[in-house]
Amino acid sequence: MLKVIIDFDGTLTVEEEQADVLAEAILSALADEILGVSYVQVTIDFQETRARLQAAPHQYSWEVNGLVASYCDEGAFILNTTAIQTMLKENPDYLQAVQAAFPNPEYDPVIDCTNALFHRHSAVLPLAFRPAAKKVLTELINHPQRKPIILTNSLGDKVKRHLTTLGLAHQIKILGDTRQYDMDPDCPCRYPALGGGKTWRINEKHVIDLRRPAYHKALLKAAADGSQLAVVADTLSLPGAMPLAMGIPFILLRTSYTPQWCLQAVADHPFGILLDNLADLPSVLDTLTDG
Ligand SMILES: [Mg+2]
Repeated sequence: MLKVIIDFDGTLTVEEEQADVLAEAILSALADEILGVSYVQVTIDFQETRARLQAAPHQYSWEVNGLVASYCDEGAFILNTTAIQTMLKENPDYLQAVQAAFPNPEYDPVIDCTNALFHRHSAVLPLAFRPAAKKVLTELINHPQRKPIILTNSLGDKVKRHLTTLGLAHQIKILGDTRQYDMDPDCPCRYPALGGGKTWRINEKHVIDLRRPAYHKALLKAAADGSQLAVVADTLSLPGAMPLAMGIPFILLRTSYTPQWCLQAVADHPFGILLDNLADLPSVLDTLTDG
């Protein structure tokens, strides 16, 4: 059996069309409920910060527990999330307001704040599946040797509700809240494919850190019944680098926001495959040896 683990946001959905709507909702809540400043002011600060990130994307990242979880330019949602995090950390008044609103954080106040706002507002985004999503999932469901599983950092109930609207013949298993961003400096993980190391140097500007115990465990669990795995996603650091480090094929969907360095890293990797259109996924899976 080949378990095809498919990322939700940006892979099955049109993230490039949703990112602005989501950012507006998050900034509005941030201004009203947490920062106590006008939406206009927060939006100006956000746009200024985001422009700075885009001018030197390798210098800005989503950091968790002091480690880089993702570079800011890897996805449309990630860019906005990283811009909001950077804006909150750099402005002492904003930082103080966020610390007051999240006095007992699970990670740190800024990460908890952006996670909470992302979960709440992405859950109510209007549905926007990529055109091929239903056909591809249906083919996977009907294939005797393949099993689709949906992977997401979002909460599983949002994804389940959205998938229901596709009217698929069977319910698809969801690996929700997999926390690919859960970074642990003390993670004991070692990857033979990385020469026994914990990081993957892509080029002189990008190093992907694989100290992600939650995601590592999730993939090991998925493979525990002897199934072969393949992971499909629209971004590299969060969902894609771990399978590659574990020797699992990773299929990167090329989108309007995919940066060149991610495409290159996947194209150069022996287990990496580029996908230009979601509709081609079934034929790409045919090329995997015994899948
Ligand atoms: Mg994604």
